Amino acid sequence: MKAMSRNPEAIARMIRQAQTIAVCSHVNPDGDTLSCAAAMRIALLRLGKDVSLFCDGKVPDQLSFLPGISEMRVPSENDGPFDLMLSVDVSDPKRLGACADLIARSSHTAQIDHHPTNPVFMEENDVDGTAPAACILIREQLKLLGVELDRDLAICLYTGISTDTGNFAFASTNAACFRVMSELMEYDLPLAKLNRILFRDRAMPQVLLMGKALGGLRYYEDGKIAVMTLTQQDFRDCGALAEHADTLVNFGLDTVGTRMALLAREDENGTIKFSLRAKEPDTVSDIAQAFGGGGHPQAAGITMDGTLGETAGRVLEAMINKLNG
Ligand code: AMP
Ligand code: MN
Ligand code: MN
Repeated sequence: MKAMSRNPEAIARMIRQAQTIAVCSHVNPDGDTLSCAAAMRIALLRLGKDVSLFCDGKVPDQLSFLPGISEMRVPSENDGPFDLMLSVDVSDPKRLGACADLIARSSHTAQIDHHPTNPVFMEENDVDGTAPAACILIREQLKLLGVELDRDLAICLYTGISTDTGNFAFASTNAACFRVMSELMEYDLPLAKLNRILFRDRAMPQVLLMGKALGGLRYYEDGKIAVMTLTQQDFRDCGALAEHADTLVNFGLDTVGTRMALLAREDENGTIKFSLRAKEPDTVSDIAQAFGGGGHPQAAGITMDGTLGETAGRVLEAMINKLNG
């Protein structure tokens, strides 16, 4: 399934007609959703709009360099009304978290997204399940709006595209990534500096948490499946935040011979958050969907109620069944 519901011109028209605009990112915000929001903020300000940025979650420290991202807030009852609510990189309404309340307080709604599992839930939609990052679609939207690139926009677009493509390494990486990159390089993009921040630097609690995750790594089905779990106590022991667990699942997946990996972790609010990964041609978005989650074929997620051991056991069983299926 590749969700495809492209109407970027209609979204550009909606933007031109709106004055107050709320741009919303998804919960557990990543480089792509925050970069989309930061880029749209710059573009909308230049068009003379009143822009508010919302996310039901904390901006990771690592991404605090994004221009204007400190304006990102969790929505409250006092926010709104808005002429337009625009969600970016949000795969389904549940991923809006508290931002979902803004839909009823907005005259119009639109979304720009690239998740194949997107149920196309807004009034106007630019959903391209084949795009490697939502920031690629934002680049096209800027063209439609007549907004010229500058260094800050280049920083945003690079961040979204590089993080969603695993630094231009995933199978989703395509010619459009490099076409946009070659444009961005014309605007004094600080590539080496950003590359270090995004892909090399690690906060010390993150390194300690990596040790915990690797210490508890277990293999199943002759190593074809790798499983890691992290408790709230593990996070406390390391002084780590939720965001510090974000890429740890890859250590399981990167084992030679491993085809699928999962990281299950306890959230502060008691729910269990799963990160599922697979190497092509194996897929995990179908497994995620079976448990109410979603995502991309080789990178998907689930949020579940229950205990760490019980929920992880159920998802592991689904993985084993799929492998032997
Ligand atoms: P993560 O493992 O958190 O990096 O998420 C991997 C991918 O799955 C991302 O592209 C998310 O958009 C998607 N995803 C993560 N958690 C969920 C969820 N609870 N429901 C739907 N999609 C999710
Ligand atoms: Mn995202
Ligand atoms: Mn994305």
